[in-house]
Amino acid sequence: KLTPRLNAVADLVNAKHKVADIGSDHAYLAAFLVEQGRVEEAIVGEVAKGPLENAKKTVRSQGLTEAIDCRLADGLAAIQPEDGVETVVIAGMGGLLIKKILADHQELGPFPELVLQPNTDQDALRAWLVANGYQVTKEEMVEEGIHRYEIIVAKPGKQELSKEDLTFGPFLRQAAGPIFQAKWQHEKDRLQLVLDRLKEAGQSQSEKYREVEETIQQIAKELS
Ligand code: SAM
Repeated sequence: KLTPRLNAVADLVNAKHKVADIGSDHAYLAAFLVEQGRVEEAIVGEVAKGPLENAKKTVRSQGLTEAIDCRLADGLAAIQPEDGVETVVIAGMGGLLIKKILADHQELGPFPELVLQPNTDQDALRAWLVANGYQVTKEEMVEEGIHRYEIIVAKPGKQELSKEDLTFGPFLRQAAGPIFQAKWQHEKDRLQLVLDRLKEAGQSQSEKYREVEETIQQIAKELS
């Protein structure tokens, strides 16, 4: 059984034949998808030897060595064009690292489907996707413990996103569900504290103060 975050990622994978999970660590996602019969085969890629060993251990212990190929590689270098990967999953990393992983091997893409779960910098990742031949087709937000995670599904295509779409997510802001509201209320409260501290420090005329104030206003507008 997967954690809520990885379970939500798994539910968004449409591949039937082959999925690649880049930065898989324990290979829990790939093992789950294969075991459930949702995909036939998986490639798991890991840049570090320790996590790759974790992945191999999961695959061996669940008797999935025929179906899951564990590869030591940096990012998308784990994938060959002849692998026929339908969905690439990159989860549990910063958005800037996910963006770099995608940008480093653009010659392999566009892939039919990307399922991305950035922990940070979702706006920069969305901006990269739409500037590089993808469109965001679905988004989900999931809560696990005290954290709230965004999951972005992208497919080849054209799309224009506004500044608000990039920041809040075109589908997430449209749905504006309870997790979305909680995330942005929390972020607004956090930024308000930053603003208060800047004021106390006599910085209310600074560039930083104006930037934070503007972001708070942007969030308030989105939540209203
Ligand atoms: N994807 C899993 C999840 O969501 O639970 C594991 C996330 S774990 C926090 C991030 C993993 O990404 C680490 O095991 C790390 O070694 C791996 N990683 C980081 N940069 C990578 C890269 N360029 N290529 C492949 N794996 C990478």
